Amino acid sequence: PEIINEAIAAGRTRFAFELLPPLKGDGMQKIFAAIDPLMPFDPAYINITYHREGIKETALPDGGIEWHVVRRRPGTVGISAAIQHRYGVEVVPHLICGGLSKYDIEDTLIDMDFLGLHNVLALRGDRSQNERRFMPHPQGHAHAADLVRQIAAMNRGEFVDGEVEECHHSKFSIGVAGYPEVHFEARDVTSDIRHLREKIDAGAEYVITQMFFDNSRYFDFVRRCREAGIAVPIIPGLKPISTLRHLEVLPETFAVTLPEELVREAKAHPEHVREVGVEWTVAQSRELMAAGVPVLHYYTMSRTTNIQQIVKALF
Ligand code: FAD
Repeated sequence: PEIINEAIAAGRTRFAFELLPPLKGDGMQKIFAAIDPLMPFDPAYINITYHREGIKETALPDGGIEWHVVRRRPGTVGISAAIQHRYGVEVVPHLICGGLSKYDIEDTLIDMDFLGLHNVLALRGDRSQNERRFMPHPQGHAHAADLVRQIAAMNRGEFVDGEVEECHHSKFSIGVAGYPEVHFEARDVTSDIRHLREKIDAGAEYVITQMFFDNSRYFDFVRRCREAGIAVPIIPGLKPISTLRHLEVLPETFAVTLPEELVREAKAHPEHVREVGVEWTVAQSRELMAAGVPVLHYYTMSRTTNIQQIVKALF
């Protein structure tokens, strides 16, 4: 993928960051305000997450409950194009299997192509709030590998309903997710890495990892991937903690562990958790840069003040 090869060719680590599309009803100003201060540090690319529908409960006067399907953060493709055009930086929209048919996916990819977006992070997505476990759309995909296959087929001019005579679409460069601490649904490490390998064999060109807070997890993961024949770049994903709540929420939500030392530091300085998080991520980043990773991928929740502090210290 060009966005990563450029960093490799330059022989120095770049950074990238991930933003959420605005909440429904919000305009683009907040997202531009989050990006503006980071542009002088020359990000390699920006990722935009994809959000499936959620469920809203409304209490009825008779004591019953009414359920509504709601989409709180639509607009991934539109906001990605707006950012790419405004800043001239490569944008990587995410695309998921959850809630989408193959036809929906194809239409989305066609829109992306028309808008000049040719990078995509292919994910399965999580279960919806009314499911106990992930259920594929009846005309969709059960695993991210199947989504990668669909995109790779489209790159060859094969569409869901057959081939077209002449295909003038540009090719998509496909990235996928990997889990240094093992995906929570995986039977074991070995099968999780086998499934990652499947995504690469299907046409994915790089991996972005789930967040981790202890670099040895990443280094072990990379070693295991290499042993399993996965040769593509593996971009480390980092998240600075910024609230005491993160100490519980992050392990629960993302099936990751927080080192005791980080938890101790945060609890010892409850009014300075942000600074503790920034310092921790800077230290992690320095070690990863020294190990020669091409890109550092920072997770944000669309507030980037701590990411600004981090990149100011590093780039
Ligand atoms: P998969 O690769 O399909 O793997 C999911 C599970 O199924 C794993 O346990 C795997 O081992 C197993 N598996 C895979 N193939 C098979 C098979 N053939 N047979 C049996 N088991 C199999 N979610 C969003 O909704 N929107 C986002 O924008 C988003 N961005 C993300 C970005 C990154 C960098 C990461 C790391 C995650 C992101 N997620 C996002 C979360 C992601 O959707 C969830 O972690 C989801 O549960 C798994 O997605 P996946 O693409 O890794 O799935």
